[in-house]
Amino acid sequence: MPINIAIIGATGSIGRQTIEVVEALGPEYRIYGLSAHRQSGLLAEQIRRWRPAKAVVTDPEHYQKVAAAVSGWEGELLAGPEGLLALVTDPKVDLVVSALVGAAGIQPTLAAVQAGKRVALANKESLVAAGEVIIPALETSGATLLPVDSEHSAIFQCLQGSAKQDLQQIHLTASGGPFRQMSLTEMESITPEAALQHPTWQMGGKITVDSATMMNKGLEVIEAHWLFGMEYERIKVVIHPQSIVHSLIEMVDGSFLAQLGPADMRLPIQLALTYPQRRPQPFSRLDLYRLANLEFYPPDPERFPCLELAYEAGKTGGTMPAVLNAANEEAVYSFLEGRISFLQIPRLIAQVMNKHIPMVSKQPDLERILEADQWARRLTRQLIKAD
Ligand code: MG
Repeated sequence: MPINIAIIGATGSIGRQTIEVVEALGPEYRIYGLSAHRQSGLLAEQIRRWRPAKAVVTDPEHYQKVAAAVSGWEGELLAGPEGLLALVTDPKVDLVVSALVGAAGIQPTLAAVQAGKRVALANKESLVAAGEVIIPALETSGATLLPVDSEHSAIFQCLQGSAKQDLQQIHLTASGGPFRQMSLTEMESITPEAALQHPTWQMGGKITVDSATMMNKGLEVIEAHWLFGMEYERIKVVIHPQSIVHSLIEMVDGSFLAQLGPADMRLPIQLALTYPQRRPQPFSRLDLYRLANLEFYPPDPERFPCLELAYEAGKTGGTMPAVLNAANEEAVYSFLEGRISFLQIPRLIAQVMNKHIPMVSKQPDLERILEADQWARRLTRQLIKAD
């Protein structure tokens, strides 16, 4: 019996690379379900090629386009966020690859966890905003959460065979993005085009801008807190521009364990699909002899305030991480549309977080988290308009 995979967010960068991995793994894995938001052309192509049992178009306006383009396909085409929930909880699905971008991933990721699925998690925002409900749900349902994010996959691999009490701290590596050597004055005039050029990784637009502000690393700190049950004081960030060491753990006796590999997301994706087994892969390999001058240095909090904001949000907890995440999403999309400057991104997030301090709800349920998310989006948009 093949392992039935549902890929939500199939037309994005992680979704497309997951399909490449599944193709290389062969018939043992079957693409059972696919979803896309608006990329109807690519979704229709994927449906014709892979013949999944189910597919979902989350933006209802694009439903008819896909339906018309896949005539003759015998599967079921669903619409909207409800369609997504139906797909991830389908009893025939063994493994859900959660690859949506942003807070849109919260509900389907939680539903997959509640349904006891094996979940390969690429959508870090769901854990950032809703770790408070996803982690307890994991414990109740017996679902498995496998990290796809390269840093978290690295930590996960380093932790195999280590006892929790032997672990001193986690070191998340960050490339530092394209602007790691820029002065604050130069950073004032960063354009969306420049922010979309990442030095080492090929990724989607939102995460590429997050890498440039280092908010991506901030979100990853919160993600690591939930995935590995670590206090924020024991999660460190280190700049490593070569993106070869994907992260490290430091043991109580002073030993470091690291995971190294090429900067190729298909490797952590594959491990999340085949774990606990490892399989050969045709994509890329690291040539040790070509590695020289691996650098590690501390991040500069003045030029990259997003990192500090994320630590603050994480330590405050409750609804604050959801607010951080929502304000960041709104700010990033406004920056990409040319409506705000690069350095306004952290300023806006800080303003929205400050306003939220007296309203923080501790141990929120899903409803509270989604409310906080919506509140932060409205406020961020108001602040952008008033500017
Ligand atoms: Mg990452």
